[in-house]
Amino acid sequence: MAISRPPDDQDDHARMTGPSYRGISNRGTATRGTANRGPVAPALSAFRQAAPGAAAPGVGGVTGQSFIGRTLTTARDAARRALAAAQAQAEAIHDAQRPFFLSTFRPLAPKNARLGDKVPIKVVEQPEFGTLLERRNAAMNVVFVAEMVRLRPAHVQRNLQALAQRGALVRSYSPPITAATKIHPVDGNLLSPPPSQGRAGAFYDPGNDVVVIRIDQVDAGIVAHEACHAYTSAPWNAMQIVLGVYDLEPAATEIDEGVTSEMANLALFNMAVATQVKVPGMPIQAPNAYAGYLANVQARAARFMRASDNSAGTPGPNAIAAYFEGDLTLQISSSDPRKSKLRLGTKIVSVAALL
Ligand SMILES: [Zn+2]
Repeated sequence: MAISRPPDDQDDHARMTGPSYRGISNRGTATRGTANRGPVAPALSAFRQAAPGAAAPGVGGVTGQSFIGRTLTTARDAARRALAAAQAQAEAIHDAQRPFFLSTFRPLAPKNARLGDKVPIKVVEQPEFGTLLERRNAAMNVVFVAEMVRLRPAHVQRNLQALAQRGALVRSYSPPITAATKIHPVDGNLLSPPPSQGRAGAFYDPGNDVVVIRIDQVDAGIVAHEACHAYTSAPWNAMQIVLGVYDLEPAATEIDEGVTSEMANLALFNMAVATQVKVPGMPIQAPNAYAGYLANVQARAARFMRASDNSAGTPGPNAIAAYFEGDLTLQISSSDPRKSKLRLGTKIVSVAALL
């Protein structure tokens, strides 16, 4: 299954709230020359120093226009250099994390060959980031809508097909769909999904198999979080859709985002333990992979980890097996979805325990 999670999920990293990992995340800040702050003459002088090929005024004539043109070119070059630096930094973070990622999860998810792969990372500026995100969401919507319709209970599926054929939506319809026909609230969005909020700072694009990070979001926690999304098993991804179909949102998205963050945190913690100089009495400082998600998501992850492994603070073997290995099955009770059962590794839990 190509889809990794619902297109209108909350995988929107509005801002990075986690501390950056100083060991590997020395974010370069753009330096602005003080010479450019004054009036035109000092700026021009600074410009001439920076661009020795430029003619002096009055001789060849640096017109205002060419000055602006060259300044813009210089600014573009600076932006390109910053982008290249951020890209290199993101790749360095990923390379640094990989051994700890593999040693943390490989033993508990040996069948996930994907864990050995390196996920490509693309660092971009706005507005390219926005364009790529929209493109991903549009592609995922197509798959998502098809999957949602396919997974709906049979009577709803028939109604949806009839609606689709008539080109109509839920509000006005006539026989053979009667007034008694029950259309699920979720179905109202199926044929025209609402546009997703444009607040993301990073995302994994399953269609192109690439992690895309906005230039100001490059950080160890973000890279680890998105990488985890890229390594999930197909059954884990399918679980999000199935839970969504049975109206178990926002729990489905919160489980995905929370457990993703906890998996990334576990690998980051192992990396910190292995690489930090230990100071007696000082706790290990690891980057945070929650990537802007709030307490509700963290609480959901804790509930999931408690249900799967009886350890609310860190993912255990059953959670890891379910997430990376796809060692899970879902037995949906369509009369009462809350009574559905979920097998996670060796543990069977009631969906109600996760809600
Ligand atoms: Zn996420």
